[in-house]
Amino acid sequence: MSTTETTTQSRNRKMNITVLGAGIIGLTTALKFQKHGGYQVTILAEHFPTDGKSIKYASLSAGAHHVSTAEDDVKQRAIDIETFKTMWDLSADGAAPGCFLRLPQTEYYREEPNLDTLKLMTNFKEISKDSLVPGAVAGITYDSVNSDSPVLLNYLLSSFLANGGSIVRASVMHIYQVIEGGPAAFAALNEQEHPPSLYPLPDGIVVCVGLGAMFLGGVEDKEVYPVRGQTVLLDAPWVKDSMSLSGKSGTSKLWTYVIPRKSGTVIVGGTYEANDWHPRPRPETTRDILARVLEMHPAIAPPAARESGRKPTVEDVLPIIVEESCGFRPCRKSGPRLESEWIDTGKRRIPVVHNYGHGGFGYIASYGSASMSLDLMERAFAQQP
Ligand SMILES: Cc1cc2nc3c(=O)[nH]c(=O)nc-3n(C[C@H](O)[C@H](O)[C@H](O)COP(=O)(O)OP(=O)(O)OC[C@H]3O[C@@H](n4cnc5c(N)ncnc54)[C@H](O)[C@@H]3O)c2cc1C
Repeated sequence: MSTTETTTQSRNRKMNITVLGAGIIGLTTALKFQKHGGYQVTILAEHFPTDGKSIKYASLSAGAHHVSTAEDDVKQRAIDIETFKTMWDLSADGAAPGCFLRLPQTEYYREEPNLDTLKLMTNFKEISKDSLVPGAVAGITYDSVNSDSPVLLNYLLSSFLANGGSIVRASVMHIYQVIEGGPAAFAALNEQEHPPSLYPLPDGIVVCVGLGAMFLGGVEDKEVYPVRGQTVLLDAPWVKDSMSLSGKSGTSKLWTYVIPRKSGTVIVGGTYEANDWHPRPRPETTRDILARVLEMHPAIAPPAARESGRKPTVEDVLPIIVEESCGFRPCRKSGPRLESEWIDTGKRRIPVVHNYGHGGFGYIASYGSASMSLDLMERAFAQQP
């Protein structure tokens, strides 16, 4: 019998869970607890998908393609593969309209890659050396699925609300505030609209605050740091290939990618700059990204430019820019934090599960790490003295 079955049978009421954070990690985690059936879930967060882009909210900046870098890390591989299977199912016609696009993923590498995990993907094939793009020493393709991050985040939030979940906007200063006061400590003080019974004290908390783990009192994780990424969104419905070129170029780590979305827009990027806190897109970086992408995949240029008989230029692509953007990947030196602890404030003692620090792979790891968070919480409750 699994931990989940044991603890579900031994409880006679729904447990109250507060999820801190409403990015891709918080939303998939909240839904996972909700779908289990034994939990009433509230999300407390400073930013929600409907707010639009904020530099403090990485999830709205993501591409997001599914290229696992788990390599030979067996735990991460299981997380990424569970996520992929879930997204693949959701990408079937009518399941989650507009959220996903199935297409072949092409990966080129400047250095020999470790393909231990990617080899497991359906229709995995190595690209012959004479068909590689400039600068690549290896290349592969496989069947994949891209997420349209703003559409997916809103789909997840509306699913959560439709299933009876609650949300409260809050900028939490210390985790003790949530343990001792619960969501009610932050909800509007209007008892008719928000009766206290709507927000009981949490029996457990899941921390999904991304980069916020650097600053949240009681967590203040010194291993967490930002890796800035800049992207350009293009209106280019003719682009049908999802493609990247990664690896070191000289002394810098360069990452060039093209990520088509269901809507006909395409995210191109990118950059990978550790501890660069600049909160706005840099115009010179936009031009550099477009030049690199044109070199890798000239088909991003509008048809008129490609049919003109000359090599398409950055100027040809500027008119189809929808938006320039940047975000901070919530990286963590020793990898994502997926573990539980009991926190005792002196007044209350409850289990807290940590699910943050997914760096550039929060979408790739989302559903799998949500399952692991549920399992960690179930185990914590099962071991309760
Ligand atoms: C340019 C770029 C491209 C990317 N491309 C991909 C990709 O192709 N595939 C992929 O898998 N990943 C990609 N990523 C990475 C991905 O975006 C992140 O891993 C993911 O969004 C992290 O999600 P999160 O929920 O942990 O954090 P966030 O999305 O940052 O959400 C954090 C949440 O916590 C809340 N919060 C934080 N602190 C507090 C507090 N004190 N009180 C209350 N609320 C708080 C915030 O308001 C927010 O709701 C990309 C990232 C960038 C920047």
